[in-house]
Amino acid sequence: MKSLVVANWKMNPQTFREAKQLFEATRRAAESVRSVSLVVAPPALYLRELKRAYKGRKISLAAQNAHAAGSGAYTGELSLTQVQDAGASYVLIGHAERRAAGEGNDDVRKKVAAALSTRLAPILCVGEATRSPRGEHFLYVAEQLQAGFADVLPGKANRVIVAYEPVWAIGTQKSMTPADMHEMAIFIRKTVQGKGHNGLAIKILYGGSIDERNAHDMIERGDVNGLLVGRASTEAKKFADLLEALHES
Ligand code: PEP
Repeated sequence: MKSLVVANWKMNPQTFREAKQLFEATRRAAESVRSVSLVVAPPALYLRELKRAYKGRKISLAAQNAHAAGSGAYTGELSLTQVQDAGASYVLIGHAERRAAGEGNDDVRKKVAAALSTRLAPILCVGEATRSPRGEHFLYVAEQLQAGFADVLPGKANRVIVAYEPVWAIGTQKSMTPADMHEMAIFIRKTVQGKGHNGLAIKILYGGSIDERNAHDMIERGDVNGLLVGRASTEAKKFADLLEALHES
């Protein structure tokens, strides 16, 4: 089974020229890694042109966000249909950096349901800010999952990909251990199952300080179907090394 690797470029690079160079380096690195399906999530502004220039099938594109409403007076926003029309096949929903900017569980609920009415596959991001010895982080993640799946019709849940990204591990040097991820993956499947869906069919990604040193181990022992990679995906050499590390997976 192929691993799904999602490269979240965030608000990088600063020019389309650099974006094309990064995409080309990523493409070259990804082409030979048969065990990986790659999704690149560039700034939405670059989607259409990257899609137009890329003729292969190895890489799909994602939007980093989109609005739940179909159209209307939402200055500065992009609709799901617009990002799909620009070339995205996936959309990140509820990324920790958007939640930090004010996006709540209710917004996430609407976005996941709206994405499922398009052809986009929603990547629902969840994850706690801190861990406690009493396990309160499980309750926090459960709440995020319950909101994310609240309006998902039975039979559609397996189109939702859950990206577990503990906030304390994003952009740090502190990745989670595969053993802790394995425990969280079981919890995620059980929680989704508790909402009346097939928890075992849910694809789970891990994100948070993944690079060439820990990617392979997380895939091997973390009970995940793939990885969501931030920083390391915007450095061509580092990302090529990461993909190379997954070559043997
Ligand atoms: C992210 O923001 O989705 C992420 C995983 O970031 P990083 O890899 O930089 O921790």
